[in-house]
Parts: sequence; C-alpha cells; structure tokens
Amino acid sequence: MTPQDFRGDGPTRPSRRTFLSAATAGAAATVAAPLAGTSSAAASGGGGASGPGRPIRPQSPDRELRELLREIDERRIEATVRRLAAFGTRHTLSSQDDPVRGIGAARDWIHEQLRGYADRSGGRMTVELQSYVQEPASRIPVPTRITNVVATLRGETSPDRIYVVTGHYDSRCTDVMDATSDAPGADDDASGVAVAMELARVMATRRSEATIVFAAVAGEEQGLYGSGYLARQFKAAGADVQGMFSDDIVGSSTADDGTRDRRTLRLFAEGVPTAETPAEANTRRSVGGENDSPSRQLARYVSDVADNDSTGMRIRVIYRRDRYLRGSDHISFLEQGYPAGRFTEPNEDFAHQHQDVRVVDGKQYGDLPEFCDFEYITRVAKVNAAALWSLAQAPGTPKGVTIVTTNLTNDTELRWTRGTEPDLAGYEIVWRETTAPEWTHVIPVGDVGTATVDLSKDNVFFGVRAVDTAGHRSPVAFPRPGS
Ligand SMILES: [Zn+2]
Repeated sequence: MTPQDFRGDGPTRPSRRTFLSAATAGAAATVAAPLAGTSSAAASGGGGASGPGRPIRPQSPDRELRELLREIDERRIEATVRRLAAFGTRHTLSSQDDPVRGIGAARDWIHEQLRGYADRSGGRMTVELQSYVQEPASRIPVPTRITNVVATLRGETSPDRIYVVTGHYDSRCTDVMDATSDAPGADDDASGVAVAMELARVMATRRSEATIVFAAVAGEEQGLYGSGYLARQFKAAGADVQGMFSDDIVGSSTADDGTRDRRTLRLFAEGVPTAETPAEANTRRSVGGENDSPSRQLARYVSDVADNDSTGMRIRVIYRRDRYLRGSDHISFLEQGYPAGRFTEPNEDFAHQHQDVRVVDGKQYGDLPEFCDFEYITRVAKVNAAALWSLAQAPGTPKGVTIVTTNLTNDTELRWTRGTEPDLAGYEIVWRETTAPEWTHVIPVGDVGTATVDLSKDNVFFGVRAVDTAGHRSPVAFPRPGS
C-alpha cells in the first residue's frame, strides 16, 4: 500500500493530531502531541504510511552492554568447543560414569566450569544438575537419566521475570541410536553450549534486574527431552519466562559449496503460536495477528538490539518455527506457551552434522572442531548477550494489553497493566501498516495505563512497550480485543 492509497482511505485520515488523550487509571490526563515529524515516512519496513508518532529507531547498546560484549572471549569459546569434542561422544545413551569418555564426563566438566563462574558472582549465580529418568520412548530403549546443567543469575529487582538461553550438550553420529562411535558434535552443539557458558561467565560478575538462566541441556537428539523437562519445570512452578533462545548449530559460517557468510545469523521465530488456544485462534482468524505472536515480537526485539556494529552481525529472522525436518529446544518452550526462537548458522553443511567421522573419496565427514569458525561463534555469543542483557535490564513486556472494542469508533483506545519495576518510566505505543513486517512508528505516551490514538484500529496494527528511566525498551506486547 502506498501513502497515497492510505491518504485516500477517508477525508480525516491521517490526522496530524497524534493522539487524543492518555490517562492513568482514575486520573484522566490529556497529553500533548509528542514530537515533530509526524508525517514522515517510516525509516524501514514495508509500510511507509504517514501518521502519528515518529519513525521507530533501533536501541543502541549502552556503555555497560558494550563493556560486557568486549569481555566475550574467542579463545575461551574455542577451548570449550574443543574440550567438549574431546569427550569422544556425548550421546545421551553413552556412559554416565566414565570419567573420560561419554556424556557423564561432559556433564561433570560443564558443571565444574559453571560452578567456577558462580564462585565469582557474589552469590548471585547458582548452579544445579537438574535430572530425571526418562522412561523408554522413541529413541530411548531403556530408562535413561537425562541431566541438564543449569546456571541461574538471580535478578536484583525483578527476580521472578526470567530469560533463558540453551545449547544442547548431547551429540550423535549417523545412527541416532549409536552410543559408542565418535560423535564430536563440535558445531551440533558444542558451539551452542560454548555460547551459553561464555555468557554465564561474563554475566556472573554483574548485577541484572531480571533473572537469566544459562542451560546446557541433554537428550536433544533423542527428542528434546532435556529442554522439555526444563520447560515443564518452569511451567509447573508458574515461572514468568518472557524469552528463550536455543543456540543450536551456531558454529560455522561456511556453506557446503564453500562460500562463507561470516556476518549473518538466522533466527527462526514462529508466527501462529504452537500453544495457541481455540479461542485465541478464533480471534486471530477474525482480526489478524498471525505475524504478531510473542515469539515474533521477541525476534523483532533481537533485531532491534543486536543487529549492529557492537555485535558485527546481521540478524536474518526466518518466519517459521524451525527448518524442514528439524526441531530444536525452543520448541519445548513454545509448547509451554513461552516466547522462544532458535539461532542457527546461515548455511549448513550436512557433511558435518549427524555424520560418522570418516573419509570418503578424500572428503572428511563428521562434526569436527576443524570445521568451526570461532570468530563467528564469538559474534553469535555477542548477539545472544546483547539480546539477553537488554531484555533483562529493560522493563518486562507489558501485560494485560487490550485494544478496546466495546464501541464502533474511528480512533483506538489501548489499556494495559502498569508494571512494578522500580525504574519504570512509562510506555510507548507502536504501530505499523498491516502489510509491514516491522513496527514503523512509535508514540511515547508517558507513565499511563491507557491511551487513545487518532488512527483506526481497523487499518493498522498496534502494540505497547515499556521504557525505563535509562531508555531501555521492553519487547512489544500485541493487544487482545476486549473492554
Ligand atoms: Zn542440535
């Protein structure tokens, strides 16, 4: 849709009045039009419509985050990948008590490393072995202990709000039931474990507002068992997990044809929520929102805070839950209704995943460290760090966000529940054309619980985000119709 089409929508559209009123509960307040530039086209995205507010801009890393990113250490990441590969195999059905070879030795090594980081956290970080016995199931022939190694950096002011990053430390070779052959799993997924561990190391010495969980999960190749258990434990505890990332196969920048893409990281994010209820599906069919799941808002947030010079990475968001024929640990969190996404390298080389280590016609197969790009993994860690740290230092995603639909009107009233963060400064309304992939406009409305915008809810999509006194933004909440 062109701006001309948009203007042709009606004699009163678009209005230069940016919004009519905004009010806290009980105390109505009229807020002046916020900023100039109300009719300028969007800076990015496909909409380009003019209307209230100003073009939205990415959130730049602040000094604290830039310092944190500089501490992420490529040599440590490389050492972690090589150490994990040296356990020979980390197959879920491999030995749990051999001190040298197998998944038990890898589990104990990861545990020891994380406890070392926690020792320097002033008591803020705790580490646990979270374990259960998986009864026989697909790819699990006998009762098998599955153990996640979980480090938790407890938040100072919003400890009940949680963000999670995982890599899976189990590995496999060609036969998914082969627990004895070498399965170095350098890219799949020592790379993701190395990312989660390096983030635990650099964040352990810092104070975070919300809680961050760094987990090395097991049983992924046999059926997402470790992450399934982790997500179910959170759900059973009523945990408020507001974002989760699986780093799975983030180790190489080289495609199977030899071309390299050192600066792109894919982020898979679903549209229609895996855990959508029938009532939510009815609403979506009625008024749209298939591109506005919490996971899509999370992905937009990652682009907003992590696609920049500080990470050296471009985020390629993919609008699907995962790749064809594959699935990763974020699906376990999506199944519990938590927003989640999967980071993975730009182009895969299937000769170096899920393969017996062997040479055929002079070509080396197998998931070996020599095929990893450690500079690339370091930038992946920076993307994760920028996303997680920004999330955890910002206010939480607004809750109870409602688009008021009790009357037929040509403006739009939004309501939400005020957050409890001590440094909460207020809220921003964002909007975009329904055909635009990204939010294009922002309207600051102050510390209020409701606002009315002079734009028809029939014609654009709206969202609400929170902002703190330091200017950190939350992810956007997409409203539900209500009263
Ligand atoms: Zn994997």
